[in-house]
Amino acid sequence: MKIDILTLFPNMFQALNESMLGKAQEKNLLQINICDFRQYSNDKHHHVDDTPYGGGAGMLLQPQPFYRAVDAINQDDAGPKRVILLDPAGQRFDQQLAQELAQEQHLVFLCGHYEGFDYRIEQLATDRVSIGDFVLTGGEMAAMMMIDATARFIPGVLGNGQSAYSDSFAQDLLEYPQYTRPAEYRGMKVPDVLLSGNHQKIAQWRHEQALKRTWLQRPDLLAQAALSSEDQQFLEK
Ligand code: SAM
Repeated sequence: MKIDILTLFPNMFQALNESMLGKAQEKNLLQINICDFRQYSNDKHHHVDDTPYGGGAGMLLQPQPFYRAVDAINQDDAGPKRVILLDPAGQRFDQQLAQELAQEQHLVFLCGHYEGFDYRIEQLATDRVSIGDFVLTGGEMAAMMMIDATARFIPGVLGNGQSAYSDSFAQDLLEYPQYTRPAEYRGMKVPDVLLSGNHQKIAQWRHEQALKRTWLQRPDLLAQAALSSEDQQFLEK
């Protein structure tokens, strides 16, 4: 997958060179290009922001540098792409959208800063995405979160490709509790069923624990989960 990121703060993206995403780039599963869109300013002082028409606090990012930067990306690669504007007012990012974006060949992220974007920049975007109901100083961390969550669904990025599909939010349930060695620590024991070697019982226990955890911690997810009649009975107990 090819990813272009338009930002005023390229150094913030160092984090993408670490861990699994760093390895994914080494393996050429991900090709990340970071572009300081200030280079597309047509102002002799390289300004990319200005005061809002009608007054108000802060500075807005101007349309010209974004349009010119996206034109350059399109000239370089005319193929289809999703252009994602990071925006607290956008669609809420979730695991489903991460999975959907992982099917794409080319993503472009437009990172805002200061008071945000001139409204005309929205016309460039195929998607406007928020990572939650709070306001960050800029879109860089939001873009990194989205890239990380999306890349986990690209085959070959995770050591065990299946694990992305058994994490929390798969089938709208939270993940079941997990344990490793030692079997007992400070009086806290690993449940017997996990030591039993009975894979059918382990799978059933895990599913019930995922149901229970979701019911206790995120009952809103259960409203959209596809529950069997056995699941319903278990929750009614
Ligand atoms: N004035 C804007 C508003 O009220 O919606 C907020 C601007 S914010 C200080 C600057 C930039 O950070 C935004 O343009 C956006 O790119 C990014 N940003 C802030 N919060 C975000 C969020 N929850 N999700 C995605 N991007 C966010």
